[in-house]
Amino acid sequence: RNGRELVANLSRIATNEVAVIVTDLTDIRRVEDMRRDFVANASHELKTPVTGMQALADSLQMAMERDPERARTMAERIQREATRLAQLVRDLLDLTRLEEGADGRGQRRVDVTALAEAQVERARETAERRGILLDFDASPEASVIGYPEDLKVIIGNLVLNAIQYNRDNGRVEVTVRRRGSDVMVRVTDTGIGIPEVDQDRVFERFYRVDKARSRAAGGTGLGLALVRHAVERHKGKVRVASVLGEGSTFTVMLPVDGGTSEG
Ligand code: ADP
Repeated sequence: RNGRELVANLSRIATNEVAVIVTDLTDIRRVEDMRRDFVANASHELKTPVTGMQALADSLQMAMERDPERARTMAERIQREATRLAQLVRDLLDLTRLEEGADGRGQRRVDVTALAEAQVERARETAERRGILLDFDASPEASVIGYPEDLKVIIGNLVLNAIQYNRDNGRVEVTVRRRGSDVMVRVTDTGIGIPEVDQDRVFERFYRVDKARSRAAGGTGLGLALVRHAVERHKGKVRVASVLGEGSTFTVMLPVDGGTSEG
């Protein structure tokens, strides 16, 4: 009897282990699929401006002698494409860095209010060009243990999006507050809003609600993916609430202690 029980137990264990291995393989395959998708997407995104620049350079060459005005336009468009390409490469490098996770090195106390104010000021000219009012409202005592570069990525991208996807003469409000053991950063806009079905997906790499609008605005489709990873490095949370045609609110909660108390 004991022998039969032993065999039964052993086979149960074996079955469980096989199940575990199968799940592991599924995970590995999923990660591989994601990596393949990412490389395919990134290559496509890189190829688009390069192809554009090649065609533009051809036209530039033809226009150079006969039509200097047209040549100038071509040169400007090449410059725009090159700028977009440079931004894309910067974002891809940032993404690689942020996805590595954090080991706590390089963390220090960061005054989120001061950092947010600097990001708002950087964006002011862009906002004013479209008559957008940029409001900043912060409590003086709001600092976290964190990575200054990542916090710039978070706030900078949210503020630029709030301007980019706004209407002319709209409004953007940036609020920084201490909330219990977190610092809250909230960016509210009066823009085009995000359809409910897309609200979770906008944090995915290269996901855009309106491809044409994002591209025309020089977007790389990586901004919110960068935000999400940077927030995760701080053991924080980011969420979006939005009403189509009325506006969006992105809220980031950052643990004051850099998430160290949660392990
Ligand atoms: P992009 O470079 O396209 O702006 P992001 O990752 O920053 O890339 O954003 C992904 C998409 O989410 C955008 O293409 C846009 O469709 C949508 N989005 C982001 N922020 C806002 C916002 N404040 N209002 C409306 N839509 C937004």
